[in-house]
Amino acid sequence: MRRIDFIVIHCTATPQDTRPAAIQQYWQQQLKWKSPGYHYLIDKFGASIQLATEDRICNGVAGHNAHSIHVSYIGGVDAANRPLDNRTDAQRKTMRELVSRLKRQYPEARVQGHRDFPFVKKACPSFDARKEFEDL
Ligand SMILES: [Zn+2]
Repeated sequence: MRRIDFIVIHCTATPQDTRPAAIQQYWQQQLKWKSPGYHYLIDKFGASIQLATEDRICNGVAGHNAHSIHVSYIGGVDAANRPLDNRTDAQRKTMRELVSRLKRQYPEARVQGHRDFPFVKKACPSFDARKEFEDL
């Protein structure tokens, strides 16, 4: 069993309609990644798609993956690619349920956004995850 220190929240920084298969193709073909970027991907209808089991290491935050679980929603930018929290109600609900479950499973883990790690220059996930999930 891996030690989990962080439950990391992401956005895909793509249009909300982007298909999970297209995101995975980008990782494999453009970035040449052998592992997915996230363990869970939540689409705009609130479906949670598991891309890797929790014992696997994913490519969410360079230098912080060994002890992290990564959760992402599809979206997070406006039409001009500027950061925007455009989660649907269904996405918010699924994300909250998933993060609650993970926090119960890994009570020592901290919930934070990708952007909350040092030296990260992205806006990902386009909202304050620490604040949103501070009650968990
Ligand atoms: Zn991210």
